[in-house]
Amino acid sequence: MSLLCVAIPVEAAEEIPVAIERAARARVLGARLVEWRCDGIASRLEGAAAAEAIARLVRESALPSIVTVRSAEEGGTCALTENARIALLARVARASEASDVPRMIDLEHASFAEGARNDDASLGGTGNEVVRALLASALMPRSEDAPTTKLIGSAHDFAGRPADLLRRVAEMQADPLVSIVKVAWMARSIRDNLEVFDMLASRSKPTIALLMGEFGLMSRVLAPKFGGFLTFAADAETGGTAPGQPTLRELRDLYRFGSIGPATRVFGVIGWPVAHSRSPAYHNARFTEANYDGVYLPLPVPDAWEHFKASLGALVDHDRLDFAGASVTIPHKENLIRFVTERGGTIDAHAAWLGAANTLVVHPHGTTEKQRLFATNTDMPAAVEVLSAALATRGRTLASSRIAVLGAGGVARAVAGGLALAGANVVVFNRTQARAEALADALSGKEIVLPDGRTHVTKVVAGRADALACGCFHAFVNCTPVGMEGGPDPSGSPLPDDVHLDDSVVVMDTVYTPRDTPLVREARARGAVVVDGEAMFLRQAALQSALFCSRW
Ligand code: NAP
Repeated sequence: MSLLCVAIPVEAAEEIPVAIERAARARVLGARLVEWRCDGIASRLEGAAAAEAIARLVRESALPSIVTVRSAEEGGTCALTENARIALLARVARASEASDVPRMIDLEHASFAEGARNDDASLGGTGNEVVRALLASALMPRSEDAPTTKLIGSAHDFAGRPADLLRRVAEMQADPLVSIVKVAWMARSIRDNLEVFDMLASRSKPTIALLMGEFGLMSRVLAPKFGGFLTFAADAETGGTAPGQPTLRELRDLYRFGSIGPATRVFGVIGWPVAHSRSPAYHNARFTEANYDGVYLPLPVPDAWEHFKASLGALVDHDRLDFAGASVTIPHKENLIRFVTERGGTIDAHAAWLGAANTLVVHPHGTTEKQRLFATNTDMPAAVEVLSAALATRGRTLASSRIAVLGAGGVARAVAGGLALAGANVVVFNRTQARAEALADALSGKEIVLPDGRTHVTKVVAGRADALACGCFHAFVNCTPVGMEGGPDPSGSPLPDDVHLDDSVVVMDTVYTPRDTPLVREARARGAVVVDGEAMFLRQAALQSALFCSRW
């Protein structure tokens, strides 16, 4: 079981009472350890006063304590000399009252490793043996039942993966002073997480292996799956002590930290950017409801086929990750088709026709790639279902409707394709006319059999902007980002003012942030039947969830 450890920085003695309260709140939220980041206290107070302030933190803490005084070289702010910092930690560990002894102290291995330089005679002599002797004596059990401090030997790199990472880990594992090995580096891609998991699998001592930055979230959330000793969580008020540290609530409530174990299946949303995706909240909540042993994470993969191929390939091929599926979003929906095609997997016929997929399912027991990898597109049926339900309120079917699709990008392709397959007469309008024409060409001419048995050939045409106001459309669907928060035109509407709207017309927006876009507000005010972007988002996500939660 991995421990959840809240990291709380304490800059000055006056902050101690508030810090103690924070630790108590963190305990209620599920933290089982607190790391007191005492860089500030250590820098501001003189030796004995700093030790007493730290002893008070340990004594009054509602949680067992790790004490850290991090050097500037490894990402901290401590202004002490190296020897003064080591002397302070040794003093903290040797506290005379049992209640003041921290469970662990954390010290960079570079500060005391065999062969480390020490030219400063302030500890009673030069050479690294003096430092190691001081630490050994501080960590020594004083009696059988007296509490003793354990040493976390750590190594951090805020720039990337250290070239000598494996050597450093091996040295820490072999060092008798080190009880717990810790490594943390700035992840360069989500693939770095897999090295962390392999490292944890081959550990010979309790190990903390965590990645920093947005690519490293996986290592933090999945520590319990791979037997990591702990994961750090940020206090919501003080913020994280390392880049990419999630808050306690995020780990507990959003990522289901408490229910992650060795058999947990891993899912995620692959896109760029994905930090603000709503999919993790949606899918993790479904896993909880379904009592399904899964976790769903944001998986940022930069724009480019090579990144996508390398990242997804590594996830799918990792033998202990239990990677079981993904939502795939901008800009990788076409890349997913290419990936599954190159691998010899299975692509649902509609997604293959569209040339874009938003869902990957990895079958855990598939023995061939054809059985193992399955790609489909849930945007398409979701759009069809929500629009068809809205048209039905006006007595119409898709097959009897003429529908204007605004935009010719990825979502427009899924929406127009789905509507055309359902028998609708679809006209695509786009800022760049040539793209509308290309989309119309690509989606026209496919022969299908309608539910009533008749044969139908899909028909999509490109419209000129002035035709939007012809009064002949039963529905308008916005597939541009116009009206989207943070998009190119958040206060705009994609429908010109001269388009007539009344209660016989359906207006659907695919934009879902905000839910009430300018188009949604305007259409509602003019009496139209309105479908907001959330309806489609929830439906496509529900279709994915049904696939993800299948009990294979
Ligand atoms: P995309 O591939 O980038 O396509 C964007 C389309 O919008 C292009 O046709 C583009 O025209 C047009 N466009 C962009 N800015 C415009 C502007 N200022 N004025 C007029 N037209 C503009 O994007 P996408 O993947 O299709 O996504 C479009 C929107 O769909 C997103 O913003 C998102 O909100 C929404 N979406 C919703 C769901 C859901 O489940 N509800 C799912 C995915 C996406 P050009 O061809 O001229 O560039």
